Amino acid sequence: MSSVNDNCGIFGVFNAPDAARLTYFGLHALQHRGQESCGIVTSTFDEHKLRRVMPARRDFGLVLDVFDDPAIFDNQLLGDAAIGHTRYSTSGATHNRSNIQPFKVHYKNGNLAVAHNGNLSNARELRQAFSERGTLFQSTSDTEHILHLIATSRRAKQLDQIIDAVVQLEGGFALLLLTDDKLIAVRDSNGFRPLALGYYSGSGQSAYCVASETCAFDLIGASYVRDVEPGEVLIIDQEACATGTFKSIQLPSRHGTNQCIFEYIYFSRPDSRIYGEMVDKVRRKIGKQLAHDAPVPRVNAEEKPPIVISVPDSSNTATLGYVNECRKLGYRCRYEIGLIRNHYVGRTFIAPGQDRREMQVRCKFNTVDGVLKDRIVVVVDDSIVRGTTAKLLVKMIRKANAKEVHFRVASPSVVSPCFYGMDFPSHEELIMNRFDSVEDLREWLNVDSLHYLSIDGLKEAVKRGNQSTKGYCDACFTANYPVPVELGVSKEEYDEEYD
Ligand code: SF4
Repeated sequence: MSSVNDNCGIFGVFNAPDAARLTYFGLHALQHRGQESCGIVTSTFDEHKLRRVMPARRDFGLVLDVFDDPAIFDNQLLGDAAIGHTRYSTSGATHNRSNIQPFKVHYKNGNLAVAHNGNLSNARELRQAFSERGTLFQSTSDTEHILHLIATSRRAKQLDQIIDAVVQLEGGFALLLLTDDKLIAVRDSNGFRPLALGYYSGSGQSAYCVASETCAFDLIGASYVRDVEPGEVLIIDQEACATGTFKSIQLPSRHGTNQCIFEYIYFSRPDSRIYGEMVDKVRRKIGKQLAHDAPVPRVNAEEKPPIVISVPDSSNTATLGYVNECRKLGYRCRYEIGLIRNHYVGRTFIAPGQDRREMQVRCKFNTVDGVLKDRIVVVVDDSIVRGTTAKLLVKMIRKANAKEVHFRVASPSVVSPCFYGMDFPSHEELIMNRFDSVEDLREWLNVDSLHYLSIDGLKEAVKRGNQSTKGYCDACFTANYPVPVELGVSKEEYDEEYD
């Protein structure tokens, strides 16, 4: 599945002498959450200016490309605290350089930088209110509103100003705020986006880090401590690093806990722990449940067993769970690698007359023809969104002379856009909304059978994978939006209005 783009990845570290380098590695691990642009801001004392400053480097491109010069770390991004951001824009036009995060400002209470993962559903209202007061905006991103809310707060202390600001935010947000003496992590009260706290002692002193996913901790040798809880404002300062005791403030909750279930299906890496549980474990349970809902076709003893292939990489883990369970249930089948993914796909330049979407899929995937030829092929994908990738993959598999092609989807059909930080296509572009039934879609995809995981099956699988009693958002499958979206604004609407 590739029609939904991840939102953003955020990483921060406090009290580590090499904070910028650690953040660089953290962002590298989170690159899958955003590939358009990235940036790092550090906090350090400037000997010439005799005050604290926040040097920054931000640019379009991948982490490895933007931070390709070691001098950036040796001479520019100094300091023992840093925050970083990898971006896929969910709000604010993609081509606008001023939208690259982290944002930083200097105001009456000192320096302040912010890195934001999510989408504010009251962004338009906030922007209108500020515009009417004459506020000048530097960007078209909803993240800038957070800085304006803090800077215009009537509270005196910086921490109170931050609390004052975040209680006014609606929608999905995981934030890292860097001040002159603190790293502050905030997760919205629904807990839409994941955020975890880690401990790092690699530089010989106690440091703490915060990341969208724990795979960022593994890369730098930090250990997972716990999640930043939904609605928690977690303050990391020198005292916290010395004692291991954190000041934590709980924001009011109006809609309960609604963690994004799609993180377990597609967005997060399987080697990450989110919402307190490994993605690999939950994703395998999802595949297992799919085997109960829609196993492989049964074949005679004389026939070659069906082969099950995943759409790499995001479907690999669910496919393993699916195959293992199918076999346990007595279905003959074998896991095979029938599709190869090219990871080095940037912009695709096409020749006149070529179909852009088809070329994008062809650049990204190729078939292993010897594996597929004359076999009953069961393709497992994590989700179908626009349907164009699925249709083209089926075309390629048929061209490789598969005997039959069956499609299994490790999630329910996507019927509604996301307003909480994921870049989904519009309601009309979602493929299931263009057909009256799964059977009609099956015909369009040109497959012998098509089955989705049921919503109850998904909920059951996630519950078995993660015993926590905290709730999940499943609005893109059910249209049951946990936070009212009447006031919400999609990325397209927001970009159109403010870019
Ligand atoms: S609508 Fe879907 S993608 Fe968006 S937060 Fe809810 S579950 Fe996640």
